[in-house]
Amino acid sequence: LLAARDQLGGAAESVTIKPVGCLRLCGRGPLVALDRTGEIGEPGEGPGSGSTELYADLTPEQASTLLEVATGLGAGRADGLAGQRLEAAHPFFALQKAVVLEGCGVVNPESIDDALAHGSYAQLRRVLLECSPEQVRDQVKRSGLRGRGGAGYPTGLKWDTVALQPPGPRTVVCNADEGDPGAFMDRSVLESDPHRLIEGMAIAAFAVGAEHGYVYVRAEYPLAIERLRLALKQARAKGLLGVGIAGSRFNLRLEVRVGAGAYVCGEETALLASIQGQRGTPRPRPPFPAQVGLWGAPTLINNVETLAAIPAILREGGDWYAAMGTEGSKGTKVFALSGAVERTGLVEVPMGTSLRTVVQTIGGGVPGGEGPDAGVKAVQTGGPSGGCIPAHLLDTPVDYESLRALGSMMGSGGLVVMGERTAMPEVARHFMRFSVNESCGKCVPCRAGTVQLLQLLDRFVERRASLEDLRRLEELCRMVGATSLCGLGQAAPNPVLSTLRYFRQEYQAACREPAQ
Ligand code: SF4
Repeated sequence: LLAARDQLGGAAESVTIKPVGCLRLCGRGPLVALDRTGEIGEPGEGPGSGSTELYADLTPEQASTLLEVATGLGAGRADGLAGQRLEAAHPFFALQKAVVLEGCGVVNPESIDDALAHGSYAQLRRVLLECSPEQVRDQVKRSGLRGRGGAGYPTGLKWDTVALQPPGPRTVVCNADEGDPGAFMDRSVLESDPHRLIEGMAIAAFAVGAEHGYVYVRAEYPLAIERLRLALKQARAKGLLGVGIAGSRFNLRLEVRVGAGAYVCGEETALLASIQGQRGTPRPRPPFPAQVGLWGAPTLINNVETLAAIPAILREGGDWYAAMGTEGSKGTKVFALSGAVERTGLVEVPMGTSLRTVVQTIGGGVPGGEGPDAGVKAVQTGGPSGGCIPAHLLDTPVDYESLRALGSMMGSGGLVVMGERTAMPEVARHFMRFSVNESCGKCVPCRAGTVQLLQLLDRFVERRASLEDLRRLEELCRMVGATSLCGLGQAAPNPVLSTLRYFRQEYQAACREPAQ
């Protein structure tokens, strides 16, 4: 677009070209949002809001044509873009509710001035000048927000636990070590709207009394790290971090720590060890990090999505957030929709939205899929700790308890769609191999148990298993889940158990002797 504008000159030079982050419909990139009013960027007025025209799958030539059409130079050529333009009420966007993602695809992630113009740091300034830490925590408790990293622990309760520890230093840590296969929600927030995370972290630090914090980001996210570091530098330069933030008496120093590629460092005690320069392995809890965390100080750990929801919660009020979602799972959730699905990308919907709505209405089902389930065989949620939910349960509402009742879990938000020809023992083996590779080796049930589970799954995939193998597989799953030290090992059997629960006949068919 920039090259085309230079080439066209004249009226084209009046067009503002603004680089933005994720426009959510990832599978249709490159995407360009055209706004003819000059008012793009009010909160929630991103793609699909009706205030912009969205063009997908653009080639450089089509981008140039779009620029000509936008400036009135090539009005007669608009037909050439008909296949690229998405209708105003496109099903991918129509049922979404952008809260965490409200700035994604709207703000320029490399410009704090643009972020400020769209409301960033307004809530930080307000709470620092007008609110007490207790009032902030009260709004978060009222919102019903639960940790979006996967465990679903009530955020306000965690903030209280840290804040109410005996006097002394506290630390706030953002877990940006997003490692589940198929998950890219946190990465998109970091790359698209890093100031939102910084604002949420600063508010959290104020609420619990922390003056120092870290964002722990995986090394595999170089663009996210670059933009986050730039955003931190810009925030310091504007007096929004550092000493006496926004004219208040609140001080906060935030730093970035880059992980070294270990999935287990997403587990909070391993993450803290890694920040301290030690080997990233989990330790038994209690004590919990909220009591004894980084260098022995009470430490608040929240993930990116949790912290990125905070500015909107404080702007609109905790009750506003709690009005969305279900009784036990309030607000919205961001999912990374991928796999055998027509429309892949980032989806933010109110909790309680059915899997069918996410996969079929928003995602468009399996390409070419037919029938009531649009070719979907199963949906995998929760990454290697989650499970596979069969198509006949697609009407399940997405919330913490409903997914757990089905033997899966919310996890951080990866949602992988599987078509009818997917072999479920192979899916289970894929995730078990991931767990074997990522086990830190500290405890025997996980270190040795996952290897044995993988060997058993090999026998099923290669169709040389026995019914005794089936019995051993289930027994070993129970043992590994019950006796592993941390969540990685405890949840590693879930993909096996859920596929056994819903697709047992595929395991039986892989046995040499017929099932009784
Ligand atoms: Fe390490 Fe696995 Fe034990 Fe967790 S369960 S401490 S990842 S060996």
